[in-house]
Amino acid sequence: MKMLQDKIRVDGKVLSENVLKVDSFLNHQIDPALMQAIGEEYAARFKDAGITKILTLESSGIAPAMMTGLVLGVPAVFARKRKSLTLIDHLYTASVYSYTKNETNDISVSKDFITNEDTVLIIDDFLANGQAVLGLLDIVEQAGSKLAGVGIVIEKGFQPGGKMIRERGIRLESLAEIASLENGEVTFVGEGSD
Ligand code: 5GP
Repeated sequence: MKMLQDKIRVDGKVLSENVLKVDSFLNHQIDPALMQAIGEEYAARFKDAGITKILTLESSGIAPAMMTGLVLGVPAVFARKRKSLTLIDHLYTASVYSYTKNETNDISVSKDFITNEDTVLIIDDFLANGQAVLGLLDIVEQAGSKLAGVGIVIEKGFQPGGKMIRERGIRLESLAEIASLENGEVTFVGEGSD
């Protein structure tokens, strides 16, 4: 998606060979026009998949998930990383290991909002090692929902998550796929590195 690639090139900050900072438009400040375009793009790609629900993880997945839900006319549900006072039981729970933080967190979704009648599209901001997506897939499986696929805003193609998900036969749609963050530069898949 060209608009997203251009934004990453102009405003993304390469923090290391593994980490891209995009907090001026996705992870902290949010660019609503870009989120709308992202929602339209996912909706177009998955328009025939019979989606009834978008599932994401708080907090950075919410903006693209909500805009996709708006265009498709379906609700967006976000898995919580912390248990809320009003959300105590009646939950699906999965564990997500974070390599960057070296910790495991439970994520949870109320059984009221994802059911075996749903066809779910999972959306998240980044795909690196695939642990966040695995946790969301676990919840979809527990709910007995049908999975339409996974939509990722920025896939770091040099990390193993994308391969792992595709090898499971899951439809994975990444709107920007990064081949490398070497030498402080973003190179997208399909671009030359020189
Ligand atoms: P995974 O579970 O695929 O290893 O990592 C996915 C999660 O880690 C994303 O939801 C995102 O919050 C975070 N993450 C992974 N890599 C990056 C990165 O390069 N930049 C930012 N901003 N977040 C990342």
